[in-house]
Amino acid sequence: MPTDYTYLNTPIEYLRTVGPARATLLQRELGIFTFGDLLEYYPFRYLDRTRFLTINQITETNNYIVTKGVITDIKTVGEGRKMRLTAYLRDNTGCVELVWFQGIKWVKDSIKANTEYLVLGRPTLFNGTYNIAHPDLELVKPEGDAVAQSFIPIYSSSEKLKSRGLSTKGISKMMAVLLGDARGKIPETLPQYLLDRFGLMGREQAMFNIHFPKDRAANEKAVRRLKFEEIFLMQLEYLYAKTERQQKSTGLVFNHIGDNFNNFYNNNLPFELTGAQKRVVREIYSDMRTGKQMNRLLQGDVGSGKTLVALLCMLIACDNGCQACIMAPTEILATQHFANISRFLENTGISVELLTGSTKPSQKKNIKERLQKGEINILIGTHALIEKDVVFANLGLVVIDEQHRFGVEQRAKMWTKNSVPPHVLVMTATPIPRTLAMTVYGDLDCSIIDELPPGRKPIKTIHQYDNDRLKVFGFMRRQIEAGHQIYVVYPLIKESEKMDLKDLMDGYESISRAFPQPQYQISMVHGQLKSDVKDYEMERFKKGETHIMVSTTVIEVGVDVPNASVMVIENAERFGLSQLHQLRGRVGRGAEQSYCILMTSQKLTTEGRARIKTMVDTTDGFKIAEADLKLRGPGDLQGLQQSGVIDLKLADIVQDENMIRVARDTVNEILAADPQLTAEQNSCLKRHINKKRSKINWGRIS
Ligand code: ADP
Ligand code: MG
Repeated sequence: MPTDYTYLNTPIEYLRTVGPARATLLQRELGIFTFGDLLEYYPFRYLDRTRFLTINQITETNNYIVTKGVITDIKTVGEGRKMRLTAYLRDNTGCVELVWFQGIKWVKDSIKANTEYLVLGRPTLFNGTYNIAHPDLELVKPEGDAVAQSFIPIYSSSEKLKSRGLSTKGISKMMAVLLGDARGKIPETLPQYLLDRFGLMGREQAMFNIHFPKDRAANEKAVRRLKFEEIFLMQLEYLYAKTERQQKSTGLVFNHIGDNFNNFYNNNLPFELTGAQKRVVREIYSDMRTGKQMNRLLQGDVGSGKTLVALLCMLIACDNGCQACIMAPTEILATQHFANISRFLENTGISVELLTGSTKPSQKKNIKERLQKGEINILIGTHALIEKDVVFANLGLVVIDEQHRFGVEQRAKMWTKNSVPPHVLVMTATPIPRTLAMTVYGDLDCSIIDELPPGRKPIKTIHQYDNDRLKVFGFMRRQIEAGHQIYVVYPLIKESEKMDLKDLMDGYESISRAFPQPQYQISMVHGQLKSDVKDYEMERFKKGETHIMVSTTVIEVGVDVPNASVMVIENAERFGLSQLHQLRGRVGRGAEQSYCILMTSQKLTTEGRARIKTMVDTTDGFKIAEADLKLRGPGDLQGLQQSGVIDLKLADIVQDENMIRVARDTVNEILAADPQLTAEQNSCLKRHINKKRSKINWGRIS
């Protein structure tokens, strides 16, 4: 079995038929730098010659279908930029129109009139006939002596690529050249005993059968094998890093609890910790005292008291002669943490500072100087904390408060300034499903706060349509009479900021009319306001001087007003589930019964309706997170995928949950027996790790 990656690491321009120009295109458009990268550019779908619809069987729109017929009437229509190429595909049951808007010349030259084709594409209904734009075509009778392949791969390609000969067929030809040369040169990445145990196809065979499947069964086996490889190797990277960290004794030893912690705990803590908070603090402490660097994820629902846990851990750092910091994703959140933590630490002698992008330069300079001298104990801030010139005297604990915005590698890079790495605690804003945690935070240990502070009544969530607004106003009036305060929140979506602001202003006006002064006082806060105005309005609401807070999602995180008992969310269908859950978490903090009212229009998409129903049905953040993942599906995880947080080509973290678990358990079992992967049978795994870690990847450099 080959063990040498030289062939796969060859830069793509050396592949016959590619050359420098196409190589550049492949690099830019598809991120393909080497032979190995091309090999892992998998088809996203297959055209099955044996399974097609007759034209009159086409019913659905926007789903991929395969149909068969003779192409006729190829002609260009329109001129200049409006030019398009059309043709008809006919069989004896009917006819569909085929259209191309781009690459017209190339398509026109390559299709043959009055010839039978298999066509793959997504039909749309237009003026009573079906219409397929930019279909993929295959001759029913291949030219020459070529044997008709029954199962044809379809690669995703851009118009730019198509016009340069890299349509799905072009890519397929390139793949054929590559695979033709590659026999015997594709190293196996999984040990033989795993192939045997899970009945997996060898890697080389799988590569052939994912790109040029012999038949459906072989293809399915190939996909399963490569999917398993993808998941397994990802888990291997995470867990190997974790094992390695645990074996190197390079962590700071926090082995005592001193005055800072004790004084705070005994004198300043305004309430008893919940059982879950206590347990989690113990977990974190026992991790920080081992002499190994801690990398831990702290999960807990909104309002479960994560900030306090973080604070207690930071005090332990102080007790052991170290500084600590919290990094928040937004300035509002950082400011909020700063306000809360400063309040908690009043009269303790612990010095806390805030550093964000908008800290004044003179103040910044002062903070940096004192930080370096060790005069600041706790620093709170945004990304500004990881700028080069922010130097701690002795940083011992980093708390990252985030909504999965950093990948494993990004996290690892962050604190390399220190000779001994600080302990790291990552807090999620809302719970995340287990599979997502395993894929995004797979290298971290996990602590979960699964209990809310006592005395909180579950929030009642109600769905109302816009035209029932008067009823809602009536309800709001009664709540105000009972002495409570109310949030009314409007969505703010970046792309249409102006329109959103208008929604907010219109809403504010109608609320002002329904709740006239001086009987009612209303605050309004949105992103366009100066921060002192914002603070002033927030403050008035906090003090109970205003009854209603009309705002955009700026209040999503942070503000804590126990007397607020109603959260009205306008255009609730436009919010994502985790956002809705965060917003709802703003109420229900006092002893009174709280309400969340979700206002929507009557027209809801199926998915929008499902989101609202989930919110009405449950207040459990873990259940909501699961539902969110299922509803949005992996497609919407693209943000995570693009930011490099999740890099999966074949696997789907919802559908392949089971495989993810099996792979993770298997990796754990292997590493328990052979933590350094020195056993001969694991040599290919060790090679994978080394390959991932070697800084130089020649293909990417050239
Ligand atoms: P999270 O960040 O987990 O959403 P916070 O840390 O903001 O939650 O805490 C929510 C609220 O609950 C805050 O007002 C906090 O002071 C309060 N709180 C935290 N722990 C307790 C507790 N053990 N008992 C009562 N209230 C608590
Ligand atoms: Mg919080």
